[in-house]
Amino acid sequence: MTTGKEALFPNYGRFPIRLVKGKGSRVWDEAGKEYLDLMSGIAVANLGHAPEPVLEALKRQLDELWHVSNLFEIPGQERLAALLARLSCADLAFFCNSGAEANEAAIKLARRYHRKVLGNNRYEIITFRNSFHGRTLATLTATGQDKVKDGFDPLPTGFVHVDYNDVDGLKSAITDKTAAIMLEFVQGEGGVRPASPDFVAAVKSLCAEHGLLLIADEIQTGIGRTGTFFAYEQFDAEPDIITLAKGLASGFPMGAMLGKAYLSDGFSAGSHGSTFGGTPIACAAALATLETMEKEGIPARAKRLGEQGAERLRSALSGVPGLVEVRGRGLLLGIEMAAPVAGIVTKAQEAGLLVITAGPNVLRLLPALTIEEEQWNRGLDTLAGLIAAESKDGIYA
Ligand code: PLP
Repeated sequence: MTTGKEALFPNYGRFPIRLVKGKGSRVWDEAGKEYLDLMSGIAVANLGHAPEPVLEALKRQLDELWHVSNLFEIPGQERLAALLARLSCADLAFFCNSGAEANEAAIKLARRYHRKVLGNNRYEIITFRNSFHGRTLATLTATGQDKVKDGFDPLPTGFVHVDYNDVDGLKSAITDKTAAIMLEFVQGEGGVRPASPDFVAAVKSLCAEHGLLLIADEIQTGIGRTGTFFAYEQFDAEPDIITLAKGLASGFPMGAMLGKAYLSDGFSAGSHGSTFGGTPIACAAALATLETMEKEGIPARAKRLGEQGAERLRSALSGVPGLVEVRGRGLLLGIEMAAPVAGIVTKAQEAGLLVITAGPNVLRLLPALTIEEEQWNRGLDTLAGLIAAESKDGIYA
């Protein structure tokens, strides 16, 4: 019999750090070493670890009811759906457990709406190179990166990939089979790359011209991360469908697909579902998360801290050899270097700082949106110092 690490499938490249406790932007490993967390479990702990209002809401709900089948009406789901409808341009919600499931639901809804409501045979979804949409068979096929597909063929048909921010490429990919365009307004895993406003304008007008649905994958960019509740708000483009997960319930697993009212008949009773989707516990965590964000103006805070942080990095790194660019929106920032940055991630961990990459040459910062200003500045200064030191060793020169 195998034990410990050997008992796990080796599908993750894991850092040799064993975190056991977290509060706010601080986390601790088994040996008691403290880290400043600038990655929030990849955009999950947007209110920090164990935020008090969510903790209290979870404790209350744990005393009441944990799980109920979606064969019954669930008051928490109704309250959460109404709140999401008020905060977004959408009217309807479906709840699930992860980002991939939310995108899977969006793909299914787009196909079924065209087939059953509009009565046509449009099923293709256009997505973009370097996008990331999940690990299920449909969502890894939607993903615009070959590495996630390796060894998993045959893949489902009906997905077409186009270069990001390429209007002409997009135009020529649209056919009479196209049902929808799936877009990250800022590509997260793909290198923290924002869409250009002109490109988004073209996407919107092509959707209107050809009768296509716009699916906004806001799984990484949503829940205040980019400085507004949803990234699409900064691009003057209302999606038909929005997918959410990650920060939605502050770390309790939950995904959501939101949609406009006219999509309602795309799903009928029995056409889609999930045993665990929208349990009372998940809904309690999400309601407390969103209410806290709204009450405390957290998205605006993310915008301010993100802009200040990007400026601080640009000035600390100016003249450092190999710096390509500091970019991003709100508290989703990328530092692109001219060479791989994995070594800096390790050095940062040694210095008590948790950061991750987005592709080989980009350091990605996604701190809690509640990070204290002193912590944020200290983290950025430490990181800039490490990057400058690496550059001095000639790695980036
Ligand atoms: N879409 C985007 C933009 C993501 O960043 C991710 C995860 O990183 C996903 C989808 C998949 O989410 P999950 O890992 O919860 O399935």
